[in-house]
Amino acid sequence: MTRPHDCAYAEAVLLGESPVPVGVLTDFEAGVSSCDACTDLAAALAEIDVLAADLPDLEVPAELSKRTLEAVLAEMAPSAAPVRRSTHQKWPFAMIVGGLAAAMALVVAWPGGPSPAPPDRLVARGSGDILPTVALKVAVDEGTGLERHRRDAAYPSGTKVQFRVALDRPADVALVRVDGSGAEVVTTATLTAGDSNLQMGAQPLAWQVEPGESDARFVLLAAPSGTLPEDPASGLSVDPATLSEPAGSVCARVGHLACDERLLRVQP
Ligand SMILES: [Zn+2]
Repeated sequence: MTRPHDCAYAEAVLLGESPVPVGVLTDFEAGVSSCDACTDLAAALAEIDVLAADLPDLEVPAELSKRTLEAVLAEMAPSAAPVRRSTHQKWPFAMIVGGLAAAMALVVAWPGGPSPAPPDRLVARGSGDILPTVALKVAVDEGTGLERHRRDAAYPSGTKVQFRVALDRPADVALVRVDGSGAEVVTTATLTAGDSNLQMGAQPLAWQVEPGESDARFVLLAAPSGTLPEDPASGLSVDPATLSEPAGSVCARVGHLACDERLLRVQP
């Protein structure tokens, strides 16, 4: 039985947001190659994969850790918000800071562009400022080079995760990691319009998944300059039972800030 070509479904598969169809890959590929739009998308993505494969491996300095993060944030003060962390939880990732500007610049073209916030969310609470439109882009390196992050894939410990933000106007942003046991601010930044790497100080930022790490949602909050809450992680939570499902969306419950999120699934 041949599944008819569906551009929206094909796009989701190509972007790694839907699993590849089981047993009918030939039909799927034939459908893509018979459709100009999907062929263009597949070609653009393949080009990115080739570019990413050529990039140098990330170096993971052994001494980089939570302590380093605190030192960097201290150096960035007073503009940086304090890092909030739960008292019982060890910092779940090793921090990787490397010379990755070139790598990050190539990662993850987003064919659809950032999706606008719904109209009822376009005005920041308590101010007349228009909320920015924001998209969080994620790339992963399992040791074989940078690739697009796949929502349906579970990544092993050691995987490096990199973040890039697209904005339609300047904004203050916060990257927050949310799992079943709480929400932690990873970093905050003031960014210009366009695509920006998330930085730690002068260096692009990446995370390394550690053994035993749980699935988590990485949530990017954005607000007009000066209007980001002092503790952006406050009030953010997710039910462990629905963390991996659409119903577990953190952004769906954020009404007063621009928001985008990516689920990072980790292999048990
Ligand atoms: Zn198509």
